[in-house]
Amino acid sequence: MRDDTRRWIEADQAHCWHPFTRQAEWCGCEHEPLVLVRGEGVWLWDSEGRRYLDGNSSIWTNIHGHGHPHILTAIRAQLERVAHTSFLGFTHPGAAELAERLCKLFPGNTLERVFFSDDGSTAIEVALKMAVQYRQQTGNAQRSGFIAFANGYHGDTLGAASLMGVGRFFERFRGLGYPVHHVASMDELRGLPGAHFAATAAVVIEPLIQGVNEMRPWPAGMLVELRSWCDDHGMHLILDEVMTGFGRTGSMFACQQENVIPDFLCLAKGLTGGYLPMAATLTTAAIYDAFLGDGGRAFYYGHSFTAHPLGCAAALASLEVFEQERTLETLPAKIEHLRLGLATLKSRHPVIHAIRQCGLIAGIELRQPDGSHFPPAARIGEAVCLAARRHGLLTRPILDTLVLLPPLVITLSELNHALAAVDAALEAAIPPLSLSAVTPAGFLT
Ligand SMILES: *Cc1c(COP(=O)(O)O)cnc(C)c1O
Repeated sequence: MRDDTRRWIEADQAHCWHPFTRQAEWCGCEHEPLVLVRGEGVWLWDSEGRRYLDGNSSIWTNIHGHGHPHILTAIRAQLERVAHTSFLGFTHPGAAELAERLCKLFPGNTLERVFFSDDGSTAIEVALKMAVQYRQQTGNAQRSGFIAFANGYHGDTLGAASLMGVGRFFERFRGLGYPVHHVASMDELRGLPGAHFAATAAVVIEPLIQGVNEMRPWPAGMLVELRSWCDDHGMHLILDEVMTGFGRTGSMFACQQENVIPDFLCLAKGLTGGYLPMAATLTTAAIYDAFLGDGGRAFYYGHSFTAHPLGCAAALASLEVFEQERTLETLPAKIEHLRLGLATLKSRHPVIHAIRQCGLIAGIELRQPDGSHFPPAARIGEAVCLAARRHGLLTRPILDTLVLLPPLVITLSELNHALAAVDAALEAAIPPLSLSAVTPAGFLT
């Protein structure tokens, strides 16, 4: 190991605290974290010079690959003008242009207003607060709760986290956020007693596919049904497209596949092409109008870096790359190639229990050949991902589901590399492992 690598690892283990991580294991002397230092296209390099395919798009963010010249040029040009100015009391060209471009991605008179923030969680916070304040200002102050879906994930700040249907993440904080009622399906939603609606501001869902729920797609047509149920019940619909937005599912936005327009649309991860933290909450004129009038009706919310100029520059450049490279038109061939490759993989490995795919998002669920789950302590998903590293693929599992969610720019041969790495990793990790569960990386999934 190089001296600088060792120094960075020591400083990290002495002072950094990582997200969703068992720190005792992370800091264990047998664990050697990868120090990532460089990226180009779908590839990342560590400080030892080893190359890996970025199999989960750097936690579901990257769209056009790393180091894309058009995005770099746009960020640099903005940086030369000014890095950051306040959006409180001022505006700037990037924010104005980006808001306009985002709205133009939807039919006229639908989503017309954009509120910028910093992360997926804050995009959700904004939608939740707007939804509640809207009810207060339209004579329905009692409608302060939400309906969300079982096993959903909407971020980790307290408001967003209170929507959380993933018990292992939020159980200890239950009751501290918004009042939320969880349902598992449209049928369950339809069966709810009316008293529930009377206390509910909006319904929140990840359209087409739940990411953190081991990449589980919803039944086709469900989003249309949900939209019409919301219309029938005077309920607002908040769509969390933080993961699905910007082409991941094969269309620019997941909701377009079912021709659904929400009342609030939350975007983040891929908004800047995955280069900078930035988020947007889009909403309709009908909601916006309820915030006009005397000062008390204003939306008192904001962050220091709201509408960050560098983020806006990156986001505008990313939208330009979608046009220049006709990114969406390249996707069907890649999605089909991935589908075939995953089917081959499944035929070769009895431990693959299920393949779930939505566009360029794939979950590969591992179970014992008899169909039962591996003992959680075996941490099979982690073990396979660790083995995949040795074959030049970086990704992380959700429980025992391996995730493949590559940058959209990936080529067919790069997809083959990713699939071959999973194949080799399953080969290497499954038979000899015999559930002895030695996994150096301390990831909690
Ligand atoms: C990642 C994610 C979030 C949270 O976004 P952050 O930027 O991590 O705060 C919210 N919803 C979904 C569906 C996500 O995938």
